Amino acid sequence: MLDDFSKIELWLLGTFSFIIRYFLIAGVLFYIFYMWKKKEMLKFKIQQSTPKFNQIKKEILYSISTFLIYGVGIFLFLFWIDNGYTKQYKSIDEFGVLYFVFSILIMIVTHDAYFYWTHRLMHYSKLFQYAHKTHHLFNSPTPWASFAFHPLEAIISIGIIPIIIFVIPFHHWALVIFVTFLMVYNTFIHLGYFTTNLKFFRFQNTSKDHDLHHNGLKGNYGLYFTVWDRLMGTYKHNIPISKN
Ligand SMILES: [Zn+2]
Ligand SMILES: [Zn+2]
Repeated sequence: MLDDFSKIELWLLGTFSFIIRYFLIAGVLFYIFYMWKKKEMLKFKIQQSTPKFNQIKKEILYSISTFLIYGVGIFLFLFWIDNGYTKQYKSIDEFGVLYFVFSILIMIVTHDAYFYWTHRLMHYSKLFQYAHKTHHLFNSPTPWASFAFHPLEAIISIGIIPIIIFVIPFHHWALVIFVTFLMVYNTFIHLGYFTTNLKFFRFQNTSKDHDLHHNGLKGNYGLYFTVWDRLMGTYKHNIPISKN
């Protein structure tokens, strides 16, 4: 498969596959919450500040730089997959539909642990200054901030993919669904709005939890769940910034 494309084409294709999904997901959420339903949603806004054009421009530009790095990652991962170095299996029938679904859940749970610990490491070390400070330029993030990372953080964040493809038997569609879900969820926690209707289960990491983190709170390092934060005593939810 890789022979049909040049290296540059593969890099650009990988990059665009992220950029398209990013603009679709963040664009739809931004349009609904910040434009179309802005007045109705105002009471659910977590922080009352209105995002400035300059902030959104920075969020988008940093996110695009992240996707250029992810494009390199995609190229590398396709090379490994194409050469049989990974745990990929070709037909869903080999492990069955149940495992297909289960493998996506394993990816999510593994990623949550990876995200928590790398995120916490970045906060508790010099890495904050070099890698994570960029993401914290945005105290009151919008959906466009979801991938606004320093290049070093972009590399750290994509480190979950080799862990998955070298350890967990996976079908390529399971990986695509996982990455798309990751993008949707990561955008969702940067929404800037919260209502209890957006909380579906107790241990869910919500937009409010992550907004508190952006707003200077020491804690709430998780991505999908609050389990690691609760286990490690870093879960903070006691600042009443949203009334609903
Ligand atoms: Zn952080
Ligand atoms: Zn964030």
